[in-house]
Amino acid sequence: MALAAATRLWLSQRQIRHVREHRDAVPGMFAESIPLAAHQKAADYTVAKARLGIVDTVLDALILLAFTLGGGLQWLAQFWERFVAIDSIWHGALVLASLLLIRGALGLPLTLYRIFVVEERFGFNRMTWKLFVIDLLKGLAFAVVLGVPVLLVVLWLMLAAGSLWWLYVWIVLVLYSLFLQMIYPAVVMPAFNKFSPLDDPVLASRVEKLLQRTGFRSRGLFVMDGSKRSSHGNAFFAGFGAAKRIVLFDTLVSRLQPAEVEAVLAHELGHYKLRHIVKGMALSWTMSFVMLFALGLLATEPWFYEGLGVQTMTLPMGLVLFMLVVPEFIFFVQPLLARFSRKNEYEADRYAAENADAKELVRALVKLYHDNSATLTPDPLHSAYYDSHPPAAMRITRLRTT
Ligand SMILES: [Zn+2]
Repeated sequence: MALAAATRLWLSQRQIRHVREHRDAVPGMFAESIPLAAHQKAADYTVAKARLGIVDTVLDALILLAFTLGGGLQWLAQFWERFVAIDSIWHGALVLASLLLIRGALGLPLTLYRIFVVEERFGFNRMTWKLFVIDLLKGLAFAVVLGVPVLLVVLWLMLAAGSLWWLYVWIVLVLYSLFLQMIYPAVVMPAFNKFSPLDDPVLASRVEKLLQRTGFRSRGLFVMDGSKRSSHGNAFFAGFGAAKRIVLFDTLVSRLQPAEVEAVLAHELGHYKLRHIVKGMALSWTMSFVMLFALGLLATEPWFYEGLGVQTMTLPMGLVLFMLVVPEFIFFVQPLLARFSRKNEYEADRYAAENADAKELVRALVKLYHDNSATLTPDPLHSAYYDSHPPAAMRITRLRTT
């Protein structure tokens, strides 16, 4: 944990320093398309976000310490032992639910600060307090309805399925993730946003032609009212198989020309056609398999519990403890995951260049970087460690040469 936190802080410092050093000049290739004021705003926004990240890192480390070595988790285990039997699935469920609630509550001030102070200051926030509270309640309701049943199944398998429980849990989680992907666009997303069919005839006919050209069938093209929360724009797919639909943020449609939207959409189609979505799912299933296997070994070892401040050695407690500490280990795999993602972005860009117009995609990217105040001059190491998308200059250079 110390090593992960130190690495995070070091990378944040590098990012802040690098962005500041390049604050006073727009990089050459963007000199004509991005004004200095916008470049400086992007630098300030990037620095503000990096500073928030520093607070977040410190807070997370303190919370993790408090729950493990500080005895917080053990206290929760003993608290719930007064109400339910320690070898029942309810004990593990209550410990995990209360842990997640407490951690969520502790992280809330920072989330509020990010939305209502930082995003607000840079003019991106459209969220109201009322909407925030409604979102929070809806999110909690979905977490209970969709999360609790599968959690109870997992805990029951841990307690009743014998030494191969971790394998059965993995199978359940894989099937459940498929189920979630199927119901997500139809059930969950409409609860948070409104989806209306695209009604711009010029854009619609361009998109139709693109879909025909690339042989893509979907359950429709929708515009989502993303602008009710933020002015950041995006485009994405939701669902898979016959249920997949294409979603464009209203902010994207209103800011980009039809040919630019087409190019962005071609990029998203590229992700689908090049099987990036399937590969991403396979990767996450592989990771969860490895992790559950590791948990299967660790959960019977007393040192795993004792070393992390827990005396209640039940398999469900092992699961909770594991969920708490495993992000510290995944952090060191992060550069590989980011690299995998960036490789996919380059491939999707090439697909867009082949099936739409590379110049339009470049224009769209420049607009999106400008509008989102995304930095054009990230620290190379910070970017390599975290970024799911290659830096703008590298993406555009490749698009211009393909
Ligand atoms: Zn992409």
